[in-house]
Amino acid sequence: MTSRDTRKSFFLEDMGCQMNRVDSELVAGRMQGAGYVRVESPHEADVVLYYTCSVREHAEDKVFGRLGRLKRLKEERPGARIGIMGCMAQSQKDRIFKRAPHVDLVVGTSRFEDVAELVEEASEGRRILAVEDGVELSYDRDITARTRKHAAFVTVMRGCNKFCSFCIVPFTQGRERSRTADGVLDEVKRLRDDGVVEITLLGQRIDTYGLDLDDGSTLHKLLVRIHEEVPGLLRIGFVTSHPNHMTTELARTIADYPRINRYLHLPVQSGSDRVLRRMNRGYSRDEYLRAVERLRTHVPDLALATDWIVGFPGETEADFLESVSLLREIDYQGSFVFKYSPRPGTRAEDFPDDVPREEKERRNHVILEMQRHMTGARYRKLEGGVANVLVEGRSKTDDDKWTGRDRWNRIVHFPMGGDPTGTLVDVALTGSTNTYLFGTPVV
Ligand code: SF4
Repeated sequence: MTSRDTRKSFFLEDMGCQMNRVDSELVAGRMQGAGYVRVESPHEADVVLYYTCSVREHAEDKVFGRLGRLKRLKEERPGARIGIMGCMAQSQKDRIFKRAPHVDLVVGTSRFEDVAELVEEASEGRRILAVEDGVELSYDRDITARTRKHAAFVTVMRGCNKFCSFCIVPFTQGRERSRTADGVLDEVKRLRDDGVVEITLLGQRIDTYGLDLDDGSTLHKLLVRIHEEVPGLLRIGFVTSHPNHMTTELARTIADYPRINRYLHLPVQSGSDRVLRRMNRGYSRDEYLRAVERLRTHVPDLALATDWIVGFPGETEADFLESVSLLREIDYQGSFVFKYSPRPGTRAEDFPDDVPREEKERRNHVILEMQRHMTGARYRKLEGGVANVLVEGRSKTDDDKWTGRDRWNRIVHFPMGGDPTGTLVDVALTGSTNTYLFGTPVV
């Protein structure tokens, strides 16, 4: 913003999952549409917004930390407006005003589209609490208000019907509601026309996409339509999957359509049946293994990543070792590990949080170390081959290199003249680490 710019400004930070990132882009679009200009620091802004996450305690602590620091700002500039949006606004509405009385707006997951109007209402000196349930979202999005030029997330459904005992999402996001396939296609085409070459479809349990629509829509049909009707796209991905809905048709679609990523994020959370039952995940270890087997029958080179929760209430050493053995058996490409922390309002909140913090830390470390070695071993086998890489931009650690991913979501670094961002480059792989591959472009 220039010093002569008289428009009001806003600062927006998003936390949490990719769906939050899309929703925060939608919020940015609404604010810009209402004449606000975005700035990089809360200290220069007339309106400070946090798009929050409730999935982990750590994310909430971060927000309260940020709010603590803004107290001074509010004392110095009482006219500034501070807003909390998203999942935490939905689940902690009363606590936020109590703990941080300098907050002006609390806007839940179903009202974020109205952000500009709500900010105006708050500007008249009123405190705003907008967390009503049952307001249907339009998904209408200013596609230019996004953070990445060549890649975009597209939300295809909201909510979750699963009620895993540790998870707050069904309470903050409500039940599953799918968007129409035509609506998704329209947004994808507009993004493609604006320069996007890679899209990732988003849903909490994306494999159930369309089941609530009663028009025969399914995830695999949606993927095929995008593949066939939007030819300019180079890569199509989707997250997050749930093992109970891995259909043969979906596996065949991944196998048959070359621009669909051969990578699935398929959270398992635990390898112990006892823990899985208490988590209410809806599958046993054996059922999970069979889902993976079905997928690999059709897509033998499918790359799988997963989530683990360590230290879930009642998780014994024997339960944990079941997770360790499943990690080995499946041979994942990547693992995300979370140390359990109880979320207010979930069923697991009533279970005693009985695994000591140091033990959670140790289990976390064990899985991460094993995964690092397994990923490293996988990557070493690829040396000497060629990766077809969609370039994302400059490497963050080495200015002389470019970075991108292949269809299996593997990170590849390489040097090259010009700016290949947004294009596909064949890279001859000369080496690897436990987290990425590197090489030189094939000439
Ligand atoms: S499937 Fe389970 S973990 Fe995933 S969003 Fe739904 S309730 Fe949460």
